[in-house]
Amino acid sequence: ASDGLGIEEVRLLRGRILILLHPDCQPDKLVAVLKTVFGIAYFAPAYRVQQTPQAIAEKALALAKQRSFASFRIATRRANKSFPMNSVELNTHVGELVRQATGARVDLKKAELTIAIEIFDSEALLYCDKIIGAGGLPVGVSNTAVVLLSSGIDSPVAAYKIMRRGVSLVFVHFHSVPMTSAASVENTKKLVAHLSRHQKKVKLIVVPFLETQQHITSVTPPSYRVLLYRRMMMRIAEKFAFKNKAKALVTGENVGQVASQTLPNMLAINEVVSLPVLRPLAGDDKQDIIAFAEKIGTFPISIQPYDDCCSLFVPGNPETSAKLDRIVDYEKNLDIEQLVSKAVAGAETMIYAHDRKDDTE
Ligand code: ATP
Ligand code: MG
Repeated sequence: ASDGLGIEEVRLLRGRILILLHPDCQPDKLVAVLKTVFGIAYFAPAYRVQQTPQAIAEKALALAKQRSFASFRIATRRANKSFPMNSVELNTHVGELVRQATGARVDLKKAELTIAIEIFDSEALLYCDKIIGAGGLPVGVSNTAVVLLSSGIDSPVAAYKIMRRGVSLVFVHFHSVPMTSAASVENTKKLVAHLSRHQKKVKLIVVPFLETQQHITSVTPPSYRVLLYRRMMMRIAEKFAFKNKAKALVTGENVGQVASQTLPNMLAINEVVSLPVLRPLAGDDKQDIIAFAEKIGTFPISIQPYDDCCSLFVPGNPETSAKLDRIVDYEKNLDIEQLVSKAVAGAETMIYAHDRKDDTE
């Protein structure tokens, strides 16, 4: 993933990752990439100097002279306890030199400029400019989940949030081509390509759903169809979860947002799967979800027009308080196992590996 970024070497220091850069590195590009990496709370362009009080003080002075500020502080973090000065002594020593050279005052609580000094086993690093990272946990440390991704606004945000908790995702999308256009599939591919900048390799499974919908339509009144669609989606998605050793399913559902997303309906949807269903947006307001989607860059893709497979053959108002016994009665007229295995067999899998060279912002 580091191709073309000018990274020379990556080292693990105590509590830090040190990325050594090639002289022709483009810092802006690297910063943009680092901001997408989950597990990084913050990062900073740092300078490496010899591990002596004199070399450290000289670099601190040089950094201070490049900037204008009225107050400052020196913040030393000393992993190497055999360094001749302790943190307080080094702070005082360097602070005094900077104060004399710049005339700025020392302010330990609300300094305009913080010069950070970190002393490791064989090197010392200095930096002033901390950049906030994406936070969360590195993707992959928290197992795998399958996310049901429509090409709408919500599920990409749900995916992002779970990914940021270190969960590696497999995406499943259902479509009703040729009854609907292929736009939902194309938009979904764009969304997955976009989200793949946070996960090294992403799998998208595209599932033909029309036949299942037609069977459901023939045995179910309109108000219950969305629920039966969703239950079939869950069953099929869970099959892919088992295949991919996933430990949970993820949806973009949100309590009360649309008629199909009431608590009784969520209960009816959950009932057909054994894996936990994560709904990271359950308690969010639509405005907040939209703002989040804008921030992570999925919004412009989500609002591109597409036919939603769920509104196919669903005239009128969907049931808001589903009765489980009615659902079970309707489903008795379906060969569920066969529909599930047919959908699974007809699915198409594609892999996305984000090319960092394409990153722009
Ligand atoms: P979204 O914005 O994610 O489409 P929504 O508010 O439109 O959500 P619904 O369309 O009712 O809500 O869908 C609820 C959830 O079901 C979605 O968030 C998604 O996880 C899943 N889902 C719906 N349609 C599909 C689909 N075609 N393929 C995969 N998952 C889907
Ligand atoms: Mg939708």
